[in-house]
Amino acid sequence: MAAVTIWNEYRHEREDEAVAAVYPDGIHATIADALADEHDVQTATLDDPEHGLTVDVLESTDVLCWWGHDAHDEVDDAVVERVHERVLEGMGLLVLHSAHYSKLFKRLMGTSCSLQWREDGGLERLWVVDPGHPIADGLGAWFELPETEMYGEPFDVPEPDRLVFTSWFEGGEVFRSGCCYRRGSGRIFYFRPGHETYPIYEHETVRRVLRNAVDWATPVDGSPRTFGHRERS
Ligand code: ZN
Repeated sequence: MAAVTIWNEYRHEREDEAVAAVYPDGIHATIADALADEHDVQTATLDDPEHGLTVDVLESTDVLCWWGHDAHDEVDDAVVERVHERVLEGMGLLVLHSAHYSKLFKRLMGTSCSLQWREDGGLERLWVVDPGHPIADGLGAWFELPETEMYGEPFDVPEPDRLVFTSWFEGGEVFRSGCCYRRGSGRIFYFRPGHETYPIYEHETVRRVLRNAVDWATPVDGSPRTFGHRERS
């Protein structure tokens, strides 16, 4: 059982009736519901003091999930710095959908993290392109989401260490939808699905992927990170 903190911007659900109809308690609550049977889950949102990501919260978090969209710029740089440091120390990070453009992910990647998009409610098929990967555990060769926002290549991120999913959209575009990275001791998984006007996080296979990804990103005991001058031993 991992200690999971789900961070959500939590603005669309409070300001847009169409989004509130899909996620009445917030995207974070729906993701928490997907993980709660297997993990110790807490939530945090942008408008909480320190965005809910205090030193204590982060130190007790094994895996942080991050959903943001409209208010990336409102995330305090000091909090970004704090989360970034925890990732390097070993905290796992799931970066969800439009969080590709968060300050945190852009800093971790070092690239623009830009992509192409179109909000047309079209079909998406996600192909499992690394069937042996733990994040694909229990999945078939592919799964489909009937209504999605399209994200298309080029996706300006570094080459992933492992690519688990490639999406195809009915408009013909493709996208790297499940990208694994290591930064410092931390494991990072970018997972594309999750647009706020569709019930993506209610989809059983998406929920399975989230659980698998938390398991994969949970820190393991390794050798402690020690840097600086060293005496002979
Ligand atoms: Zn979106």
